Amino acid sequence: MSTETFEFQVEARQLLQLMIHSVYSNKDVFLRELVSNASDALDKLRLASLKDDAPDVDVSDPHIEIDVDRESRTLTVRDNGIGMSYDEVTRLIGTIANSGTAQFLRELRERDGAGADGLIGQFGVGFYSGFMVADEVTLLTRRAGEEHGTRWTSRGEGTYTLERVEEAPQGTSVTLHLKPEDSENQLHDYTSTWKIKEIVKRYSDFITWPVRLLPTAAPGEDGEAPEAETLNSMKALWARPRDEVSEDEYHELYKHISHDWRDPLETVRLQAEGTFEYQALLFIPSHAPHDLFTQGHQRGVQLYVKRVFIMDDCEELLPPHLRFVKGVVDAQDLSLNVSREILQQDRHIRMIQRRLTKKVVATVKDMAASAPDRYATFWREFGAVLKEGLVTDPDNRDALLAVCSFATTHDAERPATLKEYAERMKDGQEAVYYLTGESRQALENSPHMEAFTARGIEVLLLTDPVDEVWADAVGEYDGKPLRSVAKGELDLTEDGDGASDEEKDKRSEEYAGLLGWMTEHLGEDVKEVRLSSRLTVSPACVVSDANELTPALENMYRAMGQEIPHAKRILELNPEHQLVKALNRAHTGGGDRAELTDTAELLYSLAVLAEGGRPKDSARFVKLVADRLERTL
Ligand code: ADP
Repeated sequence: MSTETFEFQVEARQLLQLMIHSVYSNKDVFLRELVSNASDALDKLRLASLKDDAPDVDVSDPHIEIDVDRESRTLTVRDNGIGMSYDEVTRLIGTIANSGTAQFLRELRERDGAGADGLIGQFGVGFYSGFMVADEVTLLTRRAGEEHGTRWTSRGEGTYTLERVEEAPQGTSVTLHLKPEDSENQLHDYTSTWKIKEIVKRYSDFITWPVRLLPTAAPGEDGEAPEAETLNSMKALWARPRDEVSEDEYHELYKHISHDWRDPLETVRLQAEGTFEYQALLFIPSHAPHDLFTQGHQRGVQLYVKRVFIMDDCEELLPPHLRFVKGVVDAQDLSLNVSREILQQDRHIRMIQRRLTKKVVATVKDMAASAPDRYATFWREFGAVLKEGLVTDPDNRDALLAVCSFATTHDAERPATLKEYAERMKDGQEAVYYLTGESRQALENSPHMEAFTARGIEVLLLTDPVDEVWADAVGEYDGKPLRSVAKGELDLTEDGDGASDEEKDKRSEEYAGLLGWMTEHLGEDVKEVRLSSRLTVSPACVVSDANELTPALENMYRAMGQEIPHAKRILELNPEHQLVKALNRAHTGGGDRAELTDTAELLYSLAVLAEGGRPKDSARFVKLVADRLERTL
């Protein structure tokens, strides 16, 4: 049959270049990647063989073979797994279908190649890693149940060839034409059986299928071929006694499951005995994947039943706010035919989910107590996800709240837990104060903060989208209400406000006329104009009613396609500000109405701008400001 030549897709070519000029110093891992792919292919075949429309293939001896030829300097990794059709080879091997990889390449370009080692780990570059050690790679494959096979060959330069072949064993074999040994570049002798044994033992010991090394010697005198040697113990790590498994072994399993090349932050083990028996081995990664917040993010917990792989990304096992956790759950009492539909209704699965959730949160708690640096990394990477649980998981709310930390005005470098905040509260402080918004800088400069800054009251500075929601859902901490400094009436008297009731009454009287007039005049946009006790520097600010949505939340709901009526806000004036005083004098003294009207409008627009919003009519706002400026010259 004819051979056709194709060009690699641009991204694939870039990735290959990266592999060939090997940004990754540890070349040994190519074998781990190929064995890992072979193992996945065997899992898939096993699952397919359980289905009604199972392909008619022999599944009696699923295994992986490694075959080296010292003469021709080739190394072949062969499996009798699911294999690939011609179309699958084009789709999966010649292109990079995985959008994550494209993202990876973009990031790599932005960083000008620096830190590639770290970055590469986030993305499955599996198969291509063969080009780190080989100058030519051939893949021969036949999909289980199909008649013909496919041969794919490339030297990793610009092109690859594809050919349909009449005869091919079912499954996949990948043959590497090894580059010359080069110890300076960590290119070892990969035809050495000793080296291969070492690599498989180190990286792939837990693989549940046998990895066999074919004998290299010719048949002996008696004509008997020497036996293939199984290199891995095939023992599921989660089923082995805890003290028999080294940290390195756990980490290798993590890498196999997650396609991350970096070590995880934490390993969590759990063993449940009794009526419903299961083992769990979970990992908290050290880096958030790029797609953690996009829909369709895959949760990385695999379900096994009695040591047999059943499915990836079993989302019934952990709640969405722990979707960053990877690992394995092996249940003893489920059917091998278990489906997603069954899992969704299974009482035991819900029980597992509850236990795992508690265990993961407890692990984070321990980490916060015993390894603050690791906890800080955890929080930076996954805090925004974990906080979703404050809203969605009321049962664990207190436990979650205890491991949350928040940026505060107290220390720009170090986030604080609510416990720490509470310990620092001023005598008589009635509430835990927070402000939500786009960025720390915007929040620090917000007019809403002025009274707090002046009085030295600590405020939590919340900048994740979810922050808008959880504070309302949680409501209080340790008996103190959580209160937004941008919402409701601010009464800092208990917190040590200077003005007495008498002074306040007097001020209210003085301003009553102006406030009434402005409320009426700005009625389309605001529902009330009142005096503020939160401002010390700015003339005015806008606030929301205590039980109303903030503008950010309104936008969020609208973005999700929900119809939300536009809530009118409250305009607060600073009675100590010269502009406000002058406006009041002009109003009581019967000043020019048109001028007054414009000033009122400007004041409102300034308040909206100050909290990061936009004036309703920008053109008109600019014109008014320009007019005023002109008159000052
Ligand atoms: P990843 O394994 O991270 O998805 P790879 O580049 O290693 O990325 O492989 C791409 C895809 O090619 C795999 O997801 C799988 O579908 C297919 N594949 C690779 N190796 C094999 C194999 N030995 N048998 C069957 N399919 C394979």
